[in-house]
Amino acid sequence: MFKKILIANRGEIALRIQRACRELGVKSVVVYSEADRDAKYVKLADEAVCIGPAASAQSYLSMPAIIATAEVTDAEAIHPGYGFLSENADFAERVERSGFTFIGPTPENIRTMGDKVAAKQAMIKAGVPCVPGSDGALPDDPKEIVRIARTVGYPVIIKAAGGGGGRGMRVVHTEAALVNAVQMTKAEAGAAFGNPQVYMEKFLEHPRHVEIQVLADGHKNAVWLGERDCSMQRRHQKIIEEAPAPGIPRRLIERVGDRCAAACKKMGYRGAGTFEFLYENGEFYFIEMNTRVQVEHPVTELVTGIDIVQMQIRIATGEKLPFTQRNITMRGHSIECRINAEDPVKFIPSPGRITMWHPPGGPGVRVDSHAYTNYFVPPNYDSMIGKIIVHGDTREQALARMRIALSETVVEGIQTNIPLHRELMADAKFIEGGTDIHYLESWMSQHKR
Ligand code: ADP
Repeated sequence: MFKKILIANRGEIALRIQRACRELGVKSVVVYSEADRDAKYVKLADEAVCIGPAASAQSYLSMPAIIATAEVTDAEAIHPGYGFLSENADFAERVERSGFTFIGPTPENIRTMGDKVAAKQAMIKAGVPCVPGSDGALPDDPKEIVRIARTVGYPVIIKAAGGGGGRGMRVVHTEAALVNAVQMTKAEAGAAFGNPQVYMEKFLEHPRHVEIQVLADGHKNAVWLGERDCSMQRRHQKIIEEAPAPGIPRRLIERVGDRCAAACKKMGYRGAGTFEFLYENGEFYFIEMNTRVQVEHPVTELVTGIDIVQMQIRIATGEKLPFTQRNITMRGHSIECRINAEDPVKFIPSPGRITMWHPPGGPGVRVDSHAYTNYFVPPNYDSMIGKIIVHGDTREQALARMRIALSETVVEGIQTNIPLHRELMADAKFIEGGTDIHYLESWMSQHKR
């Protein structure tokens, strides 16, 4: 096991990684920006080093600052968390070239999955079901583009190979709009991602977002840890996640889960990863793979009893997976609500000082948050300040526990989306389960939001 790990992130995930290190008996170094100086996990860290000003570009995204800190503190490995440098293949490469272990996949695997055209081709090869669409990147010839769209069938979606975070996509309903839409998406993709390649997919009208969590050890062993339903989204941002996905036949999920594990073996994948799918009319369609720990990993931890962050660290030491697929059992149901510092109706960020923070407790309740009374939420970063996660024997029990947890939670001084979560936990359609990815936005427009 490592003696010391550097945590190259902030907020709740920095605290989450710190806790995993403590349990494993590993010392941790926290890097922080000037805006995060007063964070509790910074104060509680074995070592903490300020690496720059609030602006991420000069702190959490500064590769030289992070690697230099690992050098001066004698850390052996770097955990990138999610966001920031976590899916940056160049960073992973520089970390390893500097003699440290990158807690994540190989730079090659990150690079392949970061290029959505390459990722999709790898998945097709590995037998993972994909959305029907163009065979790789779209050609320049307008006639050829029109021909491809006719075979795919309208509506289609044009997506940037280098896109991410819900950007670089355009839906096209008619042939008349096609060529222009492709050219515009290409130009935008070139400017935004430095890669003008785009590809085409059939646009699914009412899909759910269902993803498969995997763990692989780089020794050709891989398992999948069940699925998560993350269909409750606003502007492609997930706000509620749950495991298992309500109402999907187990045999369908097992088939796709096995394909994901097989794909990991084929790629020589190492670490934690997530295969994201759209699910519609009983079919799974791969959209992308995330090569890092995800915000919503706790729902999987609660139903499987496996600590995903500790597993990432153990895998990075070269350890083989301590279990096989047969050892993995799923128990009960788990739901996560992301708590954001924002206006619950208009979604305007609401940074500032938290004057009162009272988290919930009780059976089956977990809170992952770096917030506390008197904590100042800086305006410089993502608005998520924590997550409330519940577990119950059944979905009904999990829902009941989430309602109680949300009713107990007190956050004063800033606005949060807790009132929105309270309403959603009482919504008949959500309670029924299986709402699609457009449900939340249409719910909001009906509720005059
Ligand atoms: P990003 O990396 O930007 O998150 P994704 O490929 O994961 O891009 O797609 C983001 C979201 O866009 C999906 O969760 C879904 O809401 C929508 N989307 C992507 N592809 C399709 C498709 N073929 N049909 C319908 N919606 C899609």
